Amino acid sequence: MKKIAVYPGSFDPITNGHISIIKRALKVVDELVIVVAHNSLKNGFFTIEERVNFIKGIEELNLPNIKVDHFEGLLIDACVKHNATIIIRGLRAMSDFEHEFQLALGNRRLSKDIETVFLMTSYNYSYLSSSLIKEIALNGGDIKGLVPDNVREALEKKRRK
Ligand code: ADP
Repeated sequence: MKKIAVYPGSFDPITNGHISIIKRALKVVDELVIVVAHNSLKNGFFTIEERVNFIKGIEELNLPNIKVDHFEGLLIDACVKHNATIIIRGLRAMSDFEHEFQLALGNRRLSKDIETVFLMTSYNYSYLSSSLIKEIALNGGDIKGLVPDNVREALEKKRRK
């Protein structure tokens, strides 16, 4: 049976930390669906459409076994939609653990058929978060090498306004 996984997140915007998790996930699953979450508790910086388009515009992710979608509501329902039995999440420092532990157990309570699999961040990107990227970029700092080019260009445009 084909192993299909979803990789959910805000991806506001996608960073090289996320991309590293995506590439690593493809070593253990057959198909990966990156799903951008509509989060009612977080105010997005980029729209869902912009975030999805950044991901679709990244050449190295343009592979037959990667799909991009967005979802609103329960992640478990997005898994069912895509026939996925695995949720991929990335772990950076200990500070991620508590939140991820809660989410994983919450999702397991909702569905016993879906397993959350955690992949460790790459050392180079261990401090990277979408919020830090926005903070640096919007204040004039250099984010080359930390995000894909399309994201960097979009952030630089926002800075000039
Ligand atoms: P969320 O709002 O759901 O946490 P994010 O877009 O911030 O969405 O992150 C999505 C997933 O990617 C989370 O599991 C997060 O821990 C992971 N992640 C984010 N940045 C990195 C990074 N630099 N290295 C590894 N994993 C990361």
